[in-house]
Amino acid sequence: MTLKKSVSVFGVTGSIGASTVDILKSHADKYSLEAVTAHRNVKALAKAAIELDAKCAVIGDPDYYQELCDALSDTAIEVAAGENALVEAAQRPSDIVIAAIVGAAGLKPTLAAIRRGARVGLANKETLVCAGALMTAEIAKHGATLIPVDSEHSAIFQVLEERAENRIDRILLTASGGPFREWALKDMKTVTRAQALAHPNWEMGAKISIDSATMMNKGLELIEAWHLFPVAEKQIEIVVHPQSVVHSMVEYSDGSVLAQLGSPDMRTPIAYALSWPDRIKVDAPRLDFATIGGLNFEAPDTHRFPALRLARQALQEGGTLPTVLNAANEIAVEAFLEDRIGFLDIAHTVEKVMTRLGSDALTSLEQVFETDAMVRRETSACLASA
Ligand code: NDP
Repeated sequence: MTLKKSVSVFGVTGSIGASTVDILKSHADKYSLEAVTAHRNVKALAKAAIELDAKCAVIGDPDYYQELCDALSDTAIEVAAGENALVEAAQRPSDIVIAAIVGAAGLKPTLAAIRRGARVGLANKETLVCAGALMTAEIAKHGATLIPVDSEHSAIFQVLEERAENRIDRILLTASGGPFREWALKDMKTVTRAQALAHPNWEMGAKISIDSATMMNKGLELIEAWHLFPVAEKQIEIVVHPQSVVHSMVEYSDGSVLAQLGSPDMRTPIAYALSWPDRIKVDAPRLDFATIGGLNFEAPDTHRFPALRLARQALQEGGTLPTVLNAANEIAVEAFLEDRIGFLDIAHTVEKVMTRLGSDALTSLEQVFETDAMVRRETSACLASA
């Protein structure tokens, strides 16, 4: 009999959270559940906690504490609420933490898991974008292990393993191109919320769906890849691949290109983060290459998708600029989702805020939190005065 690994799932009510629950349910012999968290969705949080027999359930917004207590009153599941409770949940002794909160809100709990040397399956790319080298330094200091959950970074992680890291020529980060890949710029001006949320290949939460439509998601992934893998910024190229079958590639100095392929189903990379260095069975649809027929690749268009250019600029200039990019983008995406700004205004707003605030040297995590809060205020003010 093998010992079960205990898992905590942060953001269990989201798209990544639901896929994680699906895997944990089908491998109940291998995994037990320590803690689950959500922001406000009490019903889905309580359901996941009960189904997986979690020890603890935490709701981020304290206004929902009583509702959660009521929903779990017939169980022995511990209940807590608020930002500090999220951090305390991350400090509980689980072997693996799946970090699937959306946005910089996930940074404090993820750092708490890192600081106790846990294995972190990182979906929440915004944390690595805004805290960058400070977060990787914490990982090294506390002997934590970070396994990427983003399908592209999981692909790179899988084809990089046990290979000569100093023999990498290029990392090729694939991008679906999103719903507006073939749209003219003039038509992108009138994109609606519903059109932007309808991703052609992946079913995801609202924020990442909009990021995919603007291609900011690929920009955030560029910065994430630079922090995760031993390459220079110039060695990371983005290539548009509309079928989302090749999840990313690594080119070595002898000209070999190694790729990881699979159907667009997040359960595969999540399962890998849970089972690494082993593999477990996942019921993801299998690729039928004869039906797929062909795989296409094209260069990205930074004119129609300026977010790609902005993210590369943030990576090149470094310091606090990636923190600024991320926070401004979170506020602009929220404004678009609330129909307060147009689709093209998202990247324009990010650019305006980046230009206005510029970059400072990044020296401490406190500075990350201060910068994040200041940029949110500046971006909201910039939107209000537009
Ligand atoms: P969702 O919007 O579907 O879910 C977000 C989760 O975070 C929910 O559980 C939500 O709780 C919780 N949450 C939101 N705000 C807060 C907050 N302030 N404090 C605490 N918890 C909060 O997002 P996704 O699952 O799509 O994405 C999660 C992360 O994974 C993102 O960083 C995304 O970029 C990344 N990712 C997602 C992929 C996907 O396929 N979805 C693919 C690769 C990466 P509640 O439900 O209560 O609001």
